[in-house]
Amino acid sequence: MKFSVFSTGSVVKTPMTGHKTDILIYGAGIAGLWLFHALKRAGYDVLLLEKNAIGGGQSIASQGIIHSGLKYTLAGQVSELAKSISAMPDVWRAALNGTGAVDLSPAKQNISSQHLLIPPGLMGGLIKTISKKVLGTGAEEVPLEKWPREFSLSGFEGSLIHMDEPVLDVPAVIRALAEPYKNSIRQSDGTEIESKLTIYTAAAGNYEIAQTNSHDSELETQTRPLLMGLIKPAPFPLYAHFVGTSDKPAATVTTHKDKDGTLVWYVGGAVAERAKEAIANELYKDIQKSFAKYMPTVDLSNIEWSSLPIDRIEGKSKTGDWLPDTPTIHEIDNTFYCWPTKLTFAPMLSDALVHRIKKFGVEPSNAQTDWSFLPEVDYAEAPWNNAQWTKEN
Ligand SMILES: Cc1cc2nc3c(=O)[nH]c(=O)nc-3n(C[C@H](O)[C@H](O)[C@H](O)COP(=O)(O)OP(=O)(O)OC[C@H]3O[C@@H](n4cnc5c(N)ncnc54)[C@H](O)[C@@H]3O)c2cc1C
Repeated sequence: MKFSVFSTGSVVKTPMTGHKTDILIYGAGIAGLWLFHALKRAGYDVLLLEKNAIGGGQSIASQGIIHSGLKYTLAGQVSELAKSISAMPDVWRAALNGTGAVDLSPAKQNISSQHLLIPPGLMGGLIKTISKKVLGTGAEEVPLEKWPREFSLSGFEGSLIHMDEPVLDVPAVIRALAEPYKNSIRQSDGTEIESKLTIYTAAAGNYEIAQTNSHDSELETQTRPLLMGLIKPAPFPLYAHFVGTSDKPAATVTTHKDKDGTLVWYVGGAVAERAKEAIANELYKDIQKSFAKYMPTVDLSNIEWSSLPIDRIEGKSKTGDWLPDTPTIHEIDNTFYCWPTKLTFAPMLSDALVHRIKKFGVEPSNAQTDWSFLPEVDYAEAPWNNAQWTKEN
């Protein structure tokens, strides 16, 4: 498989400043945190600089789905993206069991599997064949008599497919990656730090940094906006893709607990694919229509709703309107600008970077610099904890 690595330039020596580290990372989203944790465990001296809050970009706003690739077969064929992502759930499961390159055992999954709801007449049989034979995702149709109670009572008619895809508690994952090495996650106060390699995992921030470094002409990125929907109190935990007629699910619903323990449905998919400036009320009406079509007996009266405008940022894909098949790395001199493309791909990006670090001959120094002279940085709040809620109308 072709991994998107763009490489130019030659090794540049960073000026001596007094403060030294093996590796300097900018951006404590999932990409920076996974790499940071893996390098710290391997004995590297690493400083992770975060501008705002730990996890506070796209990562804390993500739905936490560890994709098996099945979602990317909805057009009826196995895309390169579906193939490359299909190995990821096992990598994450190993991390959650404490047997992977990073230790996520203090974190937890919200659920170990989720469902595809395929209305009658859509290509359910084809999706099942593809998923089993090509991706080995273990997707299975659930016989009617074994449907979970909520689905049986929901009024849904069609095929219910069980998908072996975990949905993570992302705030807990972020803490599990950061907490053991929190002293080395800091805010920059302008102090110059000398590093053997510098890695930027700052999402949209990468471009701004590249401009400062005069590297921006080398970078090609794309932004895909979303207006996500939130509904509370959710009547029951739901983790499901509503399959429509396009190559994207009509809606994707995950469930999260807010700080009071109230269940919140977080709704993405095609229904959320709209400009960030779109009218939130129209989003909510479309979410209601989706439920009326797929789960018509679900009662959405007496609820509150909210919306979250947010951009997805990634390397530029060949087709422009779709996401790249793998993470993207732009390697310029001894700096790397990186985008994981999906939360799911963070381990793949980290493995590729560790490989590049070794190729540069940078070995773990086993030093543990005390970075407490730099300002501390807090954890980000999940969107369902600081949303502005509107009563259903
Ligand atoms: C609504 C939504 C739902 C999603 N759901 C899923 C999903 O279910 N499954 C999945 O696999 N993927 C999902 N994704 C995609 C996934 O969230 C992203 O691909 C991933 O989180 C990107 O991680 P990142 O670390 O590159 O960026 P981010 O999480 O955005 O982190 C970048 C960090 O860099 C920091 N930063 C910026 N500038 C600087 C600077 N100059 N110095 C230091 N730090 C800086 C930011 O403050 C931020 O903390 C979703 C995305 C969105 C928006």
